[in-house]
Amino acid sequence: MRCTVIRVIDVLNFTQENVCISGIFRANLGGRKMAGILYLCATPIGNLGDMTPRVTETLGSVDLIAAEDTRNSIKLLNHFGIRTSMTSYHEYNKVEKADYLVKQLLEGKKIALISDAGTPAISDPGEVLVQKCQEAGITVTSLPGPAACITALTLSGLSTRRFCFEGFLPSDKKEKAQILSELKEESRTILIYEAPHHLTRTLRELYEALGDRRITLCRELTKKFESVLPTTIGEALSRYETEEPRGEYVIVVEGKSLRQKKEEEQASWQSMTIEEHMTFYTKGGMDDKTAMKQVAKDRGVAKREIYQYLLSK
Ligand code: SAM
Repeated sequence: MRCTVIRVIDVLNFTQENVCISGIFRANLGGRKMAGILYLCATPIGNLGDMTPRVTETLGSVDLIAAEDTRNSIKLLNHFGIRTSMTSYHEYNKVEKADYLVKQLLEGKKIALISDAGTPAISDPGEVLVQKCQEAGITVTSLPGPAACITALTLSGLSTRRFCFEGFLPSDKKEKAQILSELKEESRTILIYEAPHHLTRTLRELYEALGDRRITLCRELTKKFESVLPTTIGEALSRYETEEPRGEYVIVVEGKSLRQKKEEEQASWQSMTIEEHMTFYTKGGMDDKTAMKQVAKDRGVAKREIYQYLLSK
């Protein structure tokens, strides 16, 4: 927390441009007009009970709310009796609108950013605005709350120690193929967002790229029909041959195990003869003794075995 120490008398002299929010004191030093603050406000992903008091309070007190879809967000604001004006900030106007919002912030306005659901900037517009605010020296703070990815991860039953977030796989075929080939080797738990009408296609693409793997399908989280299905990619594909996917999904995919990686690596070395394997290392500058040690390690055998084999040749 950044903190400017100010005397009580200074607090009493605070103008509108000197604000004290969330325990962060900011003084208007040097008589310059002080920039406002951008608040990233997480909103529920399906259950209004998950709205935090701090987000409700902030949305009610800022000068402006930038919302991904104002028609959608008006329902949320009405539910909580929030009357603050809204402006749209969505994927298709995110660059120009960010410039407008930065200007407002530089004039001292306090602005909250919300998306349709969950945490702004997570597979939602927000990133550009945050970058532009940083460049302009505007303070950005985050009011954390629901995010479908973290909710799904914790429910998945898969490893939570190391994970990576992919969001939606790209629609561009080449880019998608590149990402899928990277994911094939990924050892961390993988989180993917998908819309119901693309779920089967994505599962098929995952099956082709990664082979069959354990997955957990997290659907309609925090909502009435929430379901968490630990399964495999293959089983899920069979299921959706006869059942239409409905609702919002997070696909949580088990990462490639280190044991599997090792087995695959050993199998790839086995496709070489021991002589070829030795040449691979000696050509790279290794001396015979070190190469023998490395070849034995790669093939999961004792160094003596390699030595005796080479002697017998
Ligand atoms: N910003 C949001 C967040 O913090 O999670 C994500 C928004 S992204 C545009 C929407 C995607 O998030 C959906 O297609 C789905 O994959 C996932 N999602 C959102 N709400 C969900 C829910 N209640 N249950 C499961 N997945 C959800």
